[in-house]
Amino acid sequence: MSDRRHMGLALSLAEEAAAAGETPVGCVIVDEASGEVVASAANGPIGRNDPTAHAEILALRGAAEATGNYRLRPGLTLYVTLEPCAMCAGAISHARIARVVYGASDPKSGGVAHGAKVWDHPQCHWKPAVASGVEAEAAAKLLKDFFKARRNFPSPRSAGEGKGEGDMGSRASDDRLSPTRRFAAHSSAARGEEEDHE
Ligand SMILES: [Zn+2]
Repeated sequence: MSDRRHMGLALSLAEEAAAAGETPVGCVIVDEASGEVVASAANGPIGRNDPTAHAEILALRGAAEATGNYRLRPGLTLYVTLEPCAMCAGAISHARIARVVYGASDPKSGGVAHGAKVWDHPQCHWKPAVASGVEAEAAAKLLKDFFKARRNFPSPRSAGEGKGEGDMGSRASDDRLSPTRRFAAHSSAARGEEEDHE
């Protein structure tokens, strides 16, 4: 019940991300006992010039700052609209988040149910409880609409590349570019266009 409510908040943050030209992903960290929202974040690597500024990472940093300790308080649930990537899954594990609830699954870039499956790895020392598919359709629609709009209004750089279906895996479409093309993406505007990952 409250899972859907908190995911609704994460979805509104994902919408904020989209409005800022970032891949629409939002994250909220909640203290389950009190219901307090400890931290929340919209995805922001492009605007922040920070490849690690995924919504989950930003929310974890906010939660640690709010706590005044790198050890987060126990009993936190992290809500995120899209399956976390391997980087975020690792960070969530370091933060010892008790429970993760995510929306849409991400077969191309996810690291929980797909790819690295970080929390299933024997080296993983902290595996949160996981629930998936909460408000998944709404989360997936935001991503689809976002990439569809970008296809309809491509930048001069991305026009003609013929890349990218607007599925939620498009966070990875940067990987379809050759290293040369990626290297050529030196201006911030071009980088913004190339940076499909979260
Ligand atoms: Zn991530």
